[in-house]
Amino acid sequence: MYIGGEWIEIGERDTFTCVDPFDNQPWGRVPVGTVEDVDRAVAAARHAFDEGGWPQTSAATRATMLRKLADLIEANADELARIQIHENGKLIGEMTGGSHGMAATARFVAGLAETMGGSTVQGVPGHTVYNLREPVGVVAAITPWNSPLMLLCWKLFPALAAGCTIVIKPSEVTPTSTLRLAELCEEAGFPAGVVNVVTGFGQPTGAALASHPGVDKIGFTGSTAAGKAMLAAAAPRIGRVTLELGGKSPNIIFRDADLDNAVHGVMAGIFAATGQTCMAGSRVLVEDEVYDDVVARLSEAASNLKLGDPLDPTVDVGPVASRNQFDRVLEYIQIGQDEGAVVAAGGARENTPETERGLFVRPTVFSGVENRSRLAQEEIFGPVASLVRFSGEDEAVRLANDVDFGLAAAVWTSDVARAHRMVKRLRAGTVWVNTYRVVHYATPFGGFKQSGLGRELGVNALDAYTEVKSVYIDEGNQQTFGRH
Ligand code: NAD
Repeated sequence: MYIGGEWIEIGERDTFTCVDPFDNQPWGRVPVGTVEDVDRAVAAARHAFDEGGWPQTSAATRATMLRKLADLIEANADELARIQIHENGKLIGEMTGGSHGMAATARFVAGLAETMGGSTVQGVPGHTVYNLREPVGVVAAITPWNSPLMLLCWKLFPALAAGCTIVIKPSEVTPTSTLRLAELCEEAGFPAGVVNVVTGFGQPTGAALASHPGVDKIGFTGSTAAGKAMLAAAAPRIGRVTLELGGKSPNIIFRDADLDNAVHGVMAGIFAATGQTCMAGSRVLVEDEVYDDVVARLSEAASNLKLGDPLDPTVDVGPVASRNQFDRVLEYIQIGQDEGAVVAAGGARENTPETERGLFVRPTVFSGVENRSRLAQEEIFGPVASLVRFSGEDEAVRLANDVDFGLAAAVWTSDVARAHRMVKRLRAGTVWVNTYRVVHYATPFGGFKQSGLGRELGVNALDAYTEVKSVYIDEGNQQTFGRH
């Protein structure tokens, strides 16, 4: 762990083991952070914020450090990718691209630090009035395992740019990559106590951090259930909270769509990253007239995907990230069958000489799925596509929005007017038209409904890590009692 600028050795501590999901071999041994470790990390972050002078550093200083960090991430892109692959089994192409994406995001956010400013307000009689943006304070970043570093960076970079200090609790599945990133933060020059990492599980480590009175703001990405625990933990102190949570995103194919493209988009939406993305297009809504055709094309394409070593660039689908997740995916495949849906492709664990040691599930396509079934309503977080039939635009909208989540949605159509109508009617934080899974740092990301609270990224990314202060300066007028 990394607390107050010091690297904490394992010593006599309790530890847990990270397991590589491709070959089931132990990959890392990491300490279980105690409540006392969390206390020390928050104290270090508080000291750096309250007395250490970090919030008072110039924006240029913070931006320079972020750019240095970007250079270091780029210089170590391959290593950062490989560490994450050993942790969670994602593919080399995606993870290497992700490292470069993080560097680009750091440079973008560095620019936001330099341009962050308040505003002046005119029209208040006898007063000069302006707004300041000030760092929110000590941030707790609690992160998931599916894109451990990228999702951390969406919190870490804006927090540092705004002048906040941070305590990170990475997922118990993927802590080693975060520790390596902390080394790079140290090398980039962030002072002791500005960045801290405490490893461990949700209980007690994460819970102790979320409920800590010294934490001003929680930046959380993870499941909706844990997101609700974050809100409850922050409530007694009215702590600030940004939540990026789960999804059950509709991928809607109209009969006028280019079906080759649409099937390609569905594959990217649900089988990329082995379906383990918050924005997975897991509910595929298909118009009546093309439903059977889409089922056939998708099943064939899914059956042809190559499963195997995530470090092999010719592999299409890697393992599921952990034993828990593996069991969960297979359980949902059983639930789907019990509910009467039909397995059109996959539906079982993969067991070839190449994959037998790992946690592989065949990319699975269910047809005949009812939108109100558990298969269509609950987040599986695995390579399972549920195909629901609809008839006409109104029913597509009704089914798409009939879910507790609202993270993303996609529409496949060749009718421009329809695309615009659908974009407005879908209740989701991101809507794609004739594409899927494009996410760029210059536009906000986040969810409607139970998919989250607040937004990350975009030109206003620092808002979530700042408080606004309104300032009124009297211009020498007589005070009048009760003036407002
Ligand atoms: P998770 O909720 O199980 O865990 C996330 C983090 O929270 C981990 O660090 C965990 O240790 C910690 N945690 C769990 N319970 C806690 C508690 N009660 N108190 C404090 N900390 C606690 O999620 P996961 O399995 O790691 O990740 C998968 C989930 O993340 C999926 O639901 C997925 O949709 C979501 N996700 C959302 C986005 C997004 O941007 N919206 C992105 C990626 C993943």
